[in-house]
Amino acid sequence: MYLKKMTLRGFKSFASSTALRFEPGITCVVGPNGSGKSNVVDALSWVMGEQGAKSLRGGKMEDVIFAGTSTRQALGRAEVSLTIDNSDGALPIDYTEVTIKRTMFRNGGSEYAINGDTCRLLDIQDLLSDSGIGREMHVIVGQGQLDTVLHAGPEERRGLIEEAAGILKHRKRKEKAIRKLNAMQGNLDRVTDLTSELR
Ligand code: ATP
Repeated sequence: MYLKKMTLRGFKSFASSTALRFEPGITCVVGPNGSGKSNVVDALSWVMGEQGAKSLRGGKMEDVIFAGTSTRQALGRAEVSLTIDNSDGALPIDYTEVTIKRTMFRNGGSEYAINGDTCRLLDIQDLLSDSGIGREMHVIVGQGQLDTVLHAGPEERRGLIEEAAGILKHRKRKEKAIRKLNAMQGNLDRVTDLTSELR
């Protein structure tokens, strides 16, 4: 599995549709200061579901939409699609190539799609989480993040390791199952009360 292509349109400094093609192995992005290198990395984490404006170096989520320049009007939407080569079946989906797409509108609305089919953010997170990539998998190490890890306390460090190992997903599923079980127990208690009243 490897990242094959990323297309950006209206995302940060990438006003026009821009396609970046990657090969297996190491890719270096080089360019002058302020040319948009970090914006490429932001686009990568954004399309995989990043929800925090701060992690994307903005004040609010709409800041990812091209804000205009002296020569070009601001745009109304940002779109990023990411194509992953899945020939080895690392992603649990029956396609050798998977394209995930995220669109955001200025009114704050968002859309997600997998291979052209509209889906929920959760579907994208689920698809990526088993493969080790995705929003909370620490595959993107930002500037200054290593310092945070080195200075983290034992609890915090354990949390980071658990996330990287993929335990977080199961913990969230467990919490969801416990909530459902508790709700079910409430229903059962209510039915028991009602049947004893009817006797
Ligand atoms: P450096 O080497 O200094 O770290 P960089 O190549 O990583 O720079 P980025 O931080 O990716 O550069 O890009 C910064 C540029 O992106 C700035 O010129 C900024 O104005 C532009 N930019 C960021 N958000 C938007 C937006 N929403 N609309 C238009 N331009 C934007």
